[in-house]
Amino acid sequence: MRIAIVGAGLGGLALARVLHVHGIESVVYEREASRHARGQGGMLDIHSGQRALREAGLIDRFFAIARGEGQDMRLLEPDGTLLLQEDTPDDAPLARPEVDRADLRDLLLDSLPDGVVRWGHALGSAADGVLRFADGGSATYDLLVGADGAQSRVRPLLTDARPTHLGQNVVEIGIPDIDRTHPDLAAMVGRGNYWVLGDGLSLGAQRNGDGRVRIGLSFYRTGEDWFATSGIPFDDPAAARARLIDLLDGWHPRFTALVAACDDTIVPRAITTLPVGLTWPARPDVTLVGDAAHLMPPVGEGANMALLDGALLGLALAAHPDDHPTAVREYEREMFERAGAAARMSAQIQELLVAPDAARRMLAFFQPG
Ligand SMILES: Cc1cc2nc3c(=O)[nH]c(=O)nc-3n(C[C@H](O)[C@H](O)[C@H](O)COP(=O)(O)OP(=O)(O)OC[C@H]3O[C@@H](n4cnc5c(N)ncnc54)[C@H](O)[C@@H]3O)c2cc1C
Repeated sequence: MRIAIVGAGLGGLALARVLHVHGIESVVYEREASRHARGQGGMLDIHSGQRALREAGLIDRFFAIARGEGQDMRLLEPDGTLLLQEDTPDDAPLARPEVDRADLRDLLLDSLPDGVVRWGHALGSAADGVLRFADGGSATYDLLVGADGAQSRVRPLLTDARPTHLGQNVVEIGIPDIDRTHPDLAAMVGRGNYWVLGDGLSLGAQRNGDGRVRIGLSFYRTGEDWFATSGIPFDDPAAARARLIDLLDGWHPRFTALVAACDDTIVPRAITTLPVGLTWPARPDVTLVGDAAHLMPPVGEGANMALLDGALLGLALAAHPDDHPTAVREYEREMFERAGAAARMSAQIQELLVAPDAARRMLAFFQPG
């Protein structure tokens, strides 16, 4: 059986690794030219996805690269009130450790034999057992797995659903080498997650393994055209920072000081999602994992779901080595239920974030009763 996986993200690589552990060959086609072609972004908190790493035989190596202290959390209101501070004891279990996305991807890539990942293969179209790549090449398959993320080219084979704008736009900025350049701000942010919520905005700051603090400023209830109308000059980082500080009108100066300390990397990111509870009629020769199947608000579930999808599809194929249509049906039945529940929970958290008193609502979520 020829298993073609499109996309070497966490979902596709977890699938290829679990298949490999069970002696089943697959090929991963990835559009990027190499593992270093693009920065992989910041930290991920990995909780339910740890099961996938166990099935992949990689859990000990995962714990070696995970940062337990990344579980620290500070929650504040825009006027500077600290509502919650959780510092992780040294001997706390690694229930939700943070890991650098690039390190996690490298762990999975290094666990695969040479040649499994074919770099520089951007899928153009797929039909009737044939993949056609942007460079004119082609390959055949018996089972095609779309692990190609939010803008999946494989998804249209199964459903007409498309990602739509969530009404959230994020501006990503960051402070390099914060311990040396801004020790006062480093102490304020701490070792893990620093959240300021309220007024239809959020500021999330997070320490990365390389000493950079990544900051995401989210603007809720904003439309698809918001970046064009926001007055943020993305081609002039200093002026863009000044405009962002204006947009944090009334926020405590310690928060605007974080923005002022950022370097010139400034990335706009429009947030899109697929419908909650998306399903499709099973096909024997095509399925999806990860964001291609269930793109959710970015509240800490997507990477975990992608890892689990890949591992559980791999286990289903190993359990039915001569009957991949049954494996796909079993995988999809479980995935639809699990991902639907995660998407509903993510949508509820998203509702909290949008509220004017988001920080207090989030506190009640963390500390019910
Ligand atoms: C800012 C941010 C923070 C996040 N933080 C968290 C978190 O803390 N915890 C969490 O669980 N989730 C988090 N997420 C969500 C998480 O990043 C995604 O859900 C997860 O990466 C999805 O993995 P994937 O393998 O499905 O897709 P991706 O990681 O998007 O990988 C898809 C791969 O497919 C390749 N590809 C795409 N198109 C083609 C093509 N045509 N041909 C060949 N290859 C192609 C891409 O190059 C890519 O390598 C966050 C998301 C964002 C945006």
